[in-house]
Amino acid sequence: MADCLFCRIIAGEIPATVVAQDDELLAFRDINPQAPVHLLVIPRRHIANSAASEEDDAPLLGRLLRFGCRVAAEAGIGDSGFRLVLNNGPDSGEAVPHLHLHVLGGRRLGWPPG
Ligand code: 5GP
Ligand code: ZN
Repeated sequence: MADCLFCRIIAGEIPATVVAQDDELLAFRDINPQAPVHLLVIPRRHIANSAASEEDDAPLLGRLLRFGCRVAAEAGIGDSGFRLVLNNGPDSGEAVPHLHLHVLGGRRLGWPPG
């Protein structure tokens, strides 16, 4: 989608600090980190959010979660702990309508979330 921010990052039109990628997924640093480690993992294929995914997307969603765990470990927070977040819709604060998994860690995270 030409007007989608994260599709433009995938296309290389907007720079990002990429930490890992494969043929389906891209992981990069969040531009406004909320923790010492704050990465985003996105599918190369545009899906608005996890609520908009379909049954056929289940394998991709599984790989997205696995990829989030992998980049967390590679960032050094695999043992200290981390949080994976998928925001969906207005009440969640979702701002970018391209599915993205937040990977947050490197400090004690509060619960419940704000
Ligand atoms: P949401 O609130 O939609 O779940 O999260 C969107 C995330 O994308 C936010 O954490 C925000 O900081 C991040 N973000 C927004 N624009 C950019 C950008 O141009 N580059 C990067 N790397 N992150 C972005
Ligand atoms: Zn997109």
